[in-house]
Amino acid sequence: MTGTLYIIATPIGNLEDVTYRAARILGEVDLIAAEDTRHSLKLLNHLNISKPLTSYFDHNQQLKGERILGTLLQGKSVALISDAGTPCVSDPGYHLVRDAVAAGITVIPIPGPCAAVTALSASGLPSDNFTFAGFPPSRQGKRRSFLAGLAGLPGTLVLYEAPHRLENSLRDLREVLGDRQIVVARELTKIFEEFIRGTVSEVMTAVAQNKVRGEVVILVAPGEPAEQAAEPLDEVLRRLLDEEGLSVKDAARKAVEITGFSRNEAYSEAIRLKKAADEL
Ligand code: SAM
Repeated sequence: MTGTLYIIATPIGNLEDVTYRAARILGEVDLIAAEDTRHSLKLLNHLNISKPLTSYFDHNQQLKGERILGTLLQGKSVALISDAGTPCVSDPGYHLVRDAVAAGITVIPIPGPCAAVTALSASGLPSDNFTFAGFPPSRQGKRRSFLAGLAGLPGTLVLYEAPHRLENSLRDLREVLGDRQIVVARELTKIFEEFIRGTVSEVMTAVAQNKVRGEVVILVAPGEPAEQAAEPLDEVLRRLLDEEGLSVKDAARKAVEITGFSRNEAYSEAIRLKKAADEL
């Protein structure tokens, strides 16, 4: 008999948000795999749980993943937790779950806090259809292409962002998606929890005045159907060819995803732009 892998959501700030079930299972498993063992000790001490702990984070996930699978295959049960919220959501876990599923190990999710859903639930933005896109790339060119690829989506867009990149990301959001209604949800479940609502420009002003600190989720309202029209093909291609340095083929393929133009149109336009640039 193999053991069970539990994927356990933990609080995103307020320790009272741990569920009864999460606490019970953390107290029952043979091993807890945590993104940062020192960080998770605070939660475990709060719950009076003392269990063998091992680290499982981005840079050791291959080696540690194999060891954890070995433990599960010996019939022991393992809980995976991250620093905050739901493992696998912009956090380590996916590879372990994938490999456990492939090995026939039972994987049980223990639901609980997730910053994206917590922010969405109180944002006041449409919640029947939303896209969670994680962290935008940190480099400007890539970030703009990433946002352009999300421009035509019909629902609310939910993004994670590091506080020191917030202002740059808001600037790119306004440029690529327009001055839409947005919400910046910060320090969720903590003492200084705050929802900053308005157009991107209004929120940028508030952020600049108050030097927003702490963790943030950005939620972007769907654009009007006219606003959702993709960026012009030539502008997208120029960015992909010039700023990102993609080949004609790769730029055309990506431009199809971003703009919805056909492969032939994107390819011929990419060739035209490349030739024009080479002749300069
Ligand atoms: N797995 C986590 C979850 O389920 O939400 C997300 C982990 S990700 C590494 C961390 C990001 O989540 C932060 O940069 C921020 O964008 C968002 N986040 C986490 N906790 C938050 C909080 N209390 N308030 C606002 N955003 C938070």
